[in-house]
Amino acid sequence: MANVVVIGGSIMGSSLAYHMAMAGEARAVSIVEPDPSYEWAAAPRSAGGVRLMHSLPENIEMSRYGQTVYKNFAQLMDVNGEPGVFPFREYGYLHLVTGAKNVRTVEQNWRTQTELGVPNEILDRNEISQRFPALRSDDIDAGLFGPQDGFIDPYSAVTGMRRKAMSLGVEYIQDRVVGLQASASRVDSVVLASGRILKAEIIVNVAGAWAPEICAMAGMSIPVEPLSRPTFYFETEEHLDPLPLTKDPSGVTFRTEGRGFATGLTRHDVSGGFKWDIGEEEHNQFETELWPALAHRVPSFERLKVKRSWAGHYAMNRLDGNAIIGPWIGGLENFYVAVGFSGAGIQKGPAIGRALSELLLHGRYQTIDLSRLSYQRVIDNDPLFEIGFTA
Ligand SMILES: Cc1cc2nc3c(=O)[nH]c(=O)nc-3n(C[C@H](O)[C@H](O)[C@H](O)COP(=O)(O)OP(=O)(O)OC[C@H]3O[C@@H](n4cnc5c(N)ncnc54)[C@H](O)[C@@H]3O)c2cc1C
Repeated sequence: MANVVVIGGSIMGSSLAYHMAMAGEARAVSIVEPDPSYEWAAAPRSAGGVRLMHSLPENIEMSRYGQTVYKNFAQLMDVNGEPGVFPFREYGYLHLVTGAKNVRTVEQNWRTQTELGVPNEILDRNEISQRFPALRSDDIDAGLFGPQDGFIDPYSAVTGMRRKAMSLGVEYIQDRVVGLQASASRVDSVVLASGRILKAEIIVNVAGAWAPEICAMAGMSIPVEPLSRPTFYFETEEHLDPLPLTKDPSGVTFRTEGRGFATGLTRHDVSGGFKWDIGEEEHNQFETELWPALAHRVPSFERLKVKRSWAGHYAMNRLDGNAIIGPWIGGLENFYVAVGFSGAGIQKGPAIGRALSELLLHGRYQTIDLSRLSYQRVIDNDPLFEIGFTA
């Protein structure tokens, strides 16, 4: 097997490392990751949601494999009798919609999901209030409920996969890629901040929101940019039973987190770039947009107290919000990417690592066919959109 240098060792890089190692190719892989604490990576700053609630079959299948891996994480990531520490909180996902057009989309998605054996349910407003009495539903026209869905601790997912991959012999190099050395058709080596130069036969760029910088080093143009996403953690005076990860028609999402809730607003019509601080603008947005929407949906949220807030970054694919995976078609032939996961990469991490390992080991996909998610659609300017629940 050719030697593979992977740029970025968070969920995508560690999943690739794990799947290569399980295929007996641990020694072929080196992961370059500057920060073993993953302080700035998107993964640990994410909501950790894992749902089968998609419209594209590829995304449903990827999240299904993600669910299987995450639900069996303790056994799968066991190292010498020490299980990977990991709870999958199966509290479900609930997508609430208003308006005839959105109800039709929910029904269409439900049909696709049902055909693929996903046991999601469409609830009317009475069923919503019976199942989730804390939620106000009199202005809701339908809810799509995914009972098998839930969320994970994404930091433990990354470190659990990393620990397992290392135990099987994958090398993690604590360094940062600062340059690529290429000939006319191939990348020959990777330049690290320490000055070290790594010869590589295959390069895989899985650097999340930093992936566009790495693509630029290779001369590859990609419609992906960092998009800052604030998250607020709050607690309420009264105790509430766990709620599903709920997406409100306002765009606000919230889910149970420990003894409180985490919330954020899905909005793509804002400019990109790294922005780490949660300042006046974000707090104003909480006061004027998030809080009113939260209190409207869950009356007990009227008396909430924000305890913490933080920002993480989507690797936002501005073409269509979906992953771009595979070789750089039309470019340097040994340069691969898996980028642009926008707000839904944690759930796909296991499947993306497996898919990349299939491409590298066999030259084609063997489980889920992800050909439609290749770079070709960028070249053709032919977007492949998710409809309904977009993150
Ligand atoms: C607020 C928020 C909520 C989210 N909620 C969800 C959710 O509910 N469900 C879901 O599925 N997804 C969610 N996501 C998306 C998810 O977090 C990402 O899609 C996923 O973490 C992407 O993983 P990654 O490994 O590609 O990138 P990251 O986790 O960002 O990792 C990239 C890695 O690359 C490394 N790196 C950077 N530059 C270099 C370099 N020059 N050389 C070497 N390494 C480098 C970094 O140190 C980092 O470790 C959310 C994201 C955010 C921000």
